[in-house]
Amino acid sequence: MTDTFRGGCACGAIQYECTTEPVFSFNCHCRACQRFTGSAFISGIAVPATAFKLMPGEPKYYTTRGDSGGEIGRGFCANCGSPVVARPTRMPDMIAIPAASLEDPSWHKPAVDVFTASAQPWDYMNPNLPKFLHGPESANVNIERSQK
Ligand SMILES: [Zn+2]
Ligand SMILES: [Zn+2]
Repeated sequence: MTDTFRGGCACGAIQYECTTEPVFSFNCHCRACQRFTGSAFISGIAVPATAFKLMPGEPKYYTTRGDSGGEIGRGFCANCGSPVVARPTRMPDMIAIPAASLEDPSWHKPAVDVFTASAQPWDYMNPNLPKFLHGPESANVNIERSQK
């Protein structure tokens, strides 16, 4: 990948550009991510909000309370329904992006599984990735923090 990458929704009404590499790549198995994706987990990346730009389009946001208790604004395309962005209220300087919304999702390398306590029995995880029952302990891999 290059430092600049793009992505968007299925119909193209919402597109974004990011001008730096992800700071964190993860699979989140929490219930809110299950509902957001309609699947077992969301695979995504986190980037600094300052490097993220919507161009054009404005997602519709629905705020969920994560398994951590933290609120997350989940942005999706009001036209086609694709999830495109998530904004954790506690970390306004970070933006999470579903990897499948990337123009080229093939470079995405999830590094951890988080909120595995909420995983479904039919969820299959890469046994080689570190697992966190709730949020990751380390502050810089902190997407949906379980500890207050
Ligand atoms: Zn769309
Ligand atoms: Zn989640």
